[in-house]
Amino acid sequence: MPFEQGPIRPPSEAESLLLRISRNCPWNKCLFCPVYKGKKFSRRSVEEIKGDILAFKEAELKIKALSMRHGYGGAVTTEVMELLYRSKPELFQVGLWLYRGGRNVFLQDADGLAMAPAKLVEVLKFLKEQFPSIDRITTYARSKTAAKRSVEQLTALREAGLTRVHIGMETGNDALLQAMCKGVTAAEQIEGGKKVKEAGLELSEYVLLGLGGRADWEAHILDTVAVLNAINPHFIRLRTLALRPGIPLLEKVQRGEFQIQEDEGTVREVKLLLENLRVTSYLASDHILNLLEEIEGQLPWEMPRLLAVVNTYLEMSPERRANFRLGRRLGYYRKLRDMEDKNLFAQVEVVRRRLQEQGEDLENFLVRQMARFV
Ligand code: SF4
Repeated sequence: MPFEQGPIRPPSEAESLLLRISRNCPWNKCLFCPVYKGKKFSRRSVEEIKGDILAFKEAELKIKALSMRHGYGGAVTTEVMELLYRSKPELFQVGLWLYRGGRNVFLQDADGLAMAPAKLVEVLKFLKEQFPSIDRITTYARSKTAAKRSVEQLTALREAGLTRVHIGMETGNDALLQAMCKGVTAAEQIEGGKKVKEAGLELSEYVLLGLGGRADWEAHILDTVAVLNAINPHFIRLRTLALRPGIPLLEKVQRGEFQIQEDEGTVREVKLLLENLRVTSYLASDHILNLLEEIEGQLPWEMPRLLAVVNTYLEMSPERRANFRLGRRLGYYRKLRDMEDKNLFAQVEVVRRRLQEQGEDLENFLVRQMARFV
């Protein structure tokens, strides 16, 4: 491909064009994070980034020309997508973006606000000039970086086209932030979040369930709630801690210094979170590692429904909870109501009994299943 691409984007940016404005993470020390370990942060110049934008533009022109040649009038239709898939795979990604409307762009990698604001303004303006169809541009950012920017700088980014910032706050507990080497304090998270909002940007804050382990889960959640209540972000997105070899936190687990939360524990964390949030945010549980995907809705008025989901799970018998956890982790279920499908339920029971017969510990099995998605 004639343009660079980083390794990740939020699930909510699945339909976005990915534009890499820097490589990897400028901090890269968080103990629970595997994404950029072993990779060095580097900045991309404005010229390099503009080169990628022009490569997207060239791809767009080629796709439209192909569409014209085949009688589709320049439109990116399903038929054009089939043609690209079969004969021009190098154009497929840009084609898919145009097919979905060509409206959303996500700026990679880990900290889009780390770029000098004036340079980022230049990039944003150029991007919108080349693709006037774009109406949403988002990026990941560290709250520490957001806190360092002035509201005026962030406002200039919004005026140039940036619309939303995704921040991984993980926890609002200072002791945990320090223990996990997050490199930020709760006060800085509040400052960064408030500035982003004051600049008129949308703000999405990510909470990492399980980060307090079994020992500190209540402090983790209550302090996280305090930060969220102070910021009142537009979106709160839940994530669940899972570890695989190579992630530094796993060494703490192996030394017995950190105990991974079981699913019951993370569901209790969600309950505590819900009971104490005083925000008007949209809450989403949009990740495969979260046990309860249906914890999604507008706060505060959907709070009773979300709490009902949590209580439904907690009030199930241990056998049914085990069935759901296994079914969820193996991909049979997405939501609690999927258990009502007798056929699916029976299939999961067969697997559960087989694991029991093999003497397999369910917790260990589930931890291994979750590690596949990290
Ligand atoms: S700041 Fe974000 S991307 Fe960087 S190491 Fe921490 S969690 Fe990972």
